[in-house]
Amino acid sequence: MAITAQLVIEAFEKRFNATPDVFRAPGRVNLIGEHTDYNLGFVCPIAIDFACYTASAPNRDGVLRVFSLNLDEGREWPIDRLASLVPAKDWTDYVIGVIRQIPMARGRDILIYSTVPVGSGLSSSAALEVSTALAAGWDLEHAPRLDLVKLCRRAENEFVGVPCGIMDQYISVFGQDGSAVKIDCRSLDHEAVALPAGLAIVAVNSLVKHELSQGAYRDRVAECGRAAATLGVESLRDASLDALSRITDPIILQRARHVVTEDLRVEQFVAACRSGDVGAMGRLFVESHRSLQHDYEVSCEELDFLVDHAIRIEGVHGARMTGGGFGGCTVNLLQASAVDLFESSIRDAYQLRYGIDPAFYRVKATAGASKLS
Ligand code: ADP
Ligand code: MG
Repeated sequence: MAITAQLVIEAFEKRFNATPDVFRAPGRVNLIGEHTDYNLGFVCPIAIDFACYTASAPNRDGVLRVFSLNLDEGREWPIDRLASLVPAKDWTDYVIGVIRQIPMARGRDILIYSTVPVGSGLSSSAALEVSTALAAGWDLEHAPRLDLVKLCRRAENEFVGVPCGIMDQYISVFGQDGSAVKIDCRSLDHEAVALPAGLAIVAVNSLVKHELSQGAYRDRVAECGRAAATLGVESLRDASLDALSRITDPIILQRARHVVTEDLRVEQFVAACRSGDVGAMGRLFVESHRSLQHDYEVSCEELDFLVDHAIRIEGVHGARMTGGGFGGCTVNLLQASAVDLFESSIRDAYQLRYGIDPAFYRVKATAGASKLS
């Protein structure tokens, strides 16, 4: 078993004096298809080998106890009060938002430890939600996996209050070893897309998070709604590039153009991936970034700097921001042999420009949520 899982078991035994079951739900890097999920379009993420681990055992005290090792902070509630709790506006909302939807006959102790960098666009939140659901007794073997995805998304939409699409929870549950997963966010079907051999994927954390992000996310959701209404379609999934000329508001047109072209790029990326054309995959990365930068306007100076620098480095196929934007990570596609040089070049340039070292995550496509013991 992974060393992290072992550490989580030991920490649980020390704190709660019982032997737990252990679960794992991964974070993700979205390869392409950004801000398309809530427009019911296509996305193509990988689940990564950074994950949230939960350890869980029933107790006899009639309470739910939850402890986050990352925060060194815990809380407890009587289980008969769980259904009536209101959001506390902190991390426990992710936990309670999930658990209040899962009937709990007995008290339970849960310990949480995540190796997903928090708040960096690699979806520590969905990893926390999915691993919490498993810790609370969700039966991964017998209950429909799509129901788990929807339950976790509901927690984030309705209890935490973030209007996220379905991608993060979906890939945390349906991730595939060695493959990206193309998700149709309307039909909720998916297909595995095997990644070419010799390809390395590195996420670079800008370590900035601009204030704008929450408000701007809501604005984009609303702007896409206006675009769809103007075109008379249910969502931008149904809009064609030609139809966009009917949008007169220049900002709304930009937003819609990003979404429609990004959906097309996902299809092209999947085709390039299947034929092993890493050059085309990289070019689509850069096109996606430019569209997010200029049309959707969710990038920021630091992300643009990281992308502009990365694509000048030998062996780099492409780079783009990943996640909601306004900070967080870029994702970079490169030759496996170029990774060391890539990292030192980016580190030097970023340090010189911003006075901080970015963080690097060499990621592998991994399987989705599972029970470990
Ligand atoms: P991202 O999903 O990109 O990491 P979000 O803002 O969506 O960023 O979610 C981050 C939030 O999730 C944190 O602020 C915290 O409330 C919660 N969270 C994630 N992992 C943990 C953890 N291990 N322990 C406690 N809270 C966590
Ligand atoms: Mg999140």
